[in-house]
Amino acid sequence: MKLPGLSPRIHSLPKAELHLHLEGSIQPTTARALMARHGVKASEQEVLERYGFHDFPGFLEAFKWVTSFLREPQDYALVATDLAERLLEQNVVYAEATLSVGVMLLRKQKAEANFEALLRSTEPFERRGLRFRWVFDAVRQFGAESAMEVLEAAKTCKSKRIIAFGIGGDELQVPTAAFRPVYERAAELGLHRLIHAGEVGGPEKIREAIELLEVERIGHGIAAIKDPVLMDLLAERKFPLEICPQSNLRTGALAHLLAREDVRIEDHPLPGLLRHGIPVVLSTDDPALFHTTLPAEYDAAKKMGLQESELEQICEMGFQYAFDPASKHQTT
Ligand SMILES: [Zn+2]
Repeated sequence: MKLPGLSPRIHSLPKAELHLHLEGSIQPTTARALMARHGVKASEQEVLERYGFHDFPGFLEAFKWVTSFLREPQDYALVATDLAERLLEQNVVYAEATLSVGVMLLRKQKAEANFEALLRSTEPFERRGLRFRWVFDAVRQFGAESAMEVLEAAKTCKSKRIIAFGIGGDELQVPTAAFRPVYERAAELGLHRLIHAGEVGGPEKIREAIELLEVERIGHGIAAIKDPVLMDLLAERKFPLEICPQSNLRTGALAHLLAREDVRIEDHPLPGLLRHGIPVVLSTDDPALFHTTLPAEYDAAKKMGLQESELEQICEMGFQYAFDPASKHQTT
C-alpha cells in the first residue's frame, strides 16, 4: 500500500473518504466470489477484461455488470466487509459511502434488508477505528419520481447512519430543476444534499445544483475551472468539491474537460481549484473500477505539483467538510 512518492507523514495521516461508491469498490476477486454464489461462471481473464474499460460508456457498462451480482442482503455485507478491510489498510478512519439505492429499487430489491446487512457487517469495524456513514443515491436518468422513491427508502430504513442523499449517473439528462422537490424533501428528512455535477457537464450544472437544489458539496465539479466567476463564488462561500483525479482520467472526463485526447494526471485542474481558495476533498470514487486507492490519489495530487503542506491541508479538509461533525474526533 506504501507509495514511494509519498512522504511517511502523508501516509500516516488519518484520512476521510467522502466520495466513494460501494458498488465501484468491488474488486475482481470479490466479483468472482459473488458470481460463484449465484452460479455464474467466468474465468479470471473475463472478469479482468470487464475492469479494463477506457471511456465513460465502458465504465457505466462495467458498473452495471458488477452490480448485477448484488442480489441478496449478504452480497452487500460481503462487499462492505471487503471495502472496510481495504480502507483500514489505507488509514481511512471515516467514510461517507454511497449506496446506489436507485439501482436496488430498479431491481425490485428491498433497500431495508440490504441496508440492515450493511450495518451489521460494518459496525464491528467501528471498534477497529473505521466509521461509516451512508449516502443514499438516486440515478439521474431514472428521473425525479424514482429519486423520490430513494428518499422514501431512506425514511423507511430510519437510521442515523444515513447521512445524505445524492444523485449520480448521466448529468446531461433530466433538467436540474426537475429535482427541486426531491431536494426539498431530502432537507425535510434531515439529510445532507449532494450531487454529481460538472464531471462531464459544464460549469452551469454546478451553478444550477447550488442555486436550485441547495446542495452542500459537489461530486467532481472539475468544470468549475472553466468559469472564473463560479470559481470566485465557490471560494467565497467555501463550497467544497469532491475531487477524484484517477476517475476523471479513466472515464475520459478529464480529456473532455481539456478538449484533447492525450491527457495525463498532471493536467488535472485540482491545483488550480485549490490555489484559488476552493475547498477540495480528495477521493477515489470507484476504487476497484478505476484501479486506485486513496494513497494513490494523494500521489497523483503530488504529481500535479502540490506541496506537502497542501496535501496535509487536503487531508484535513476531508474531516472539515464531512457531514458528521464527530468525524474529526475519530483519530483521538
Ligand atoms: Zn461518483
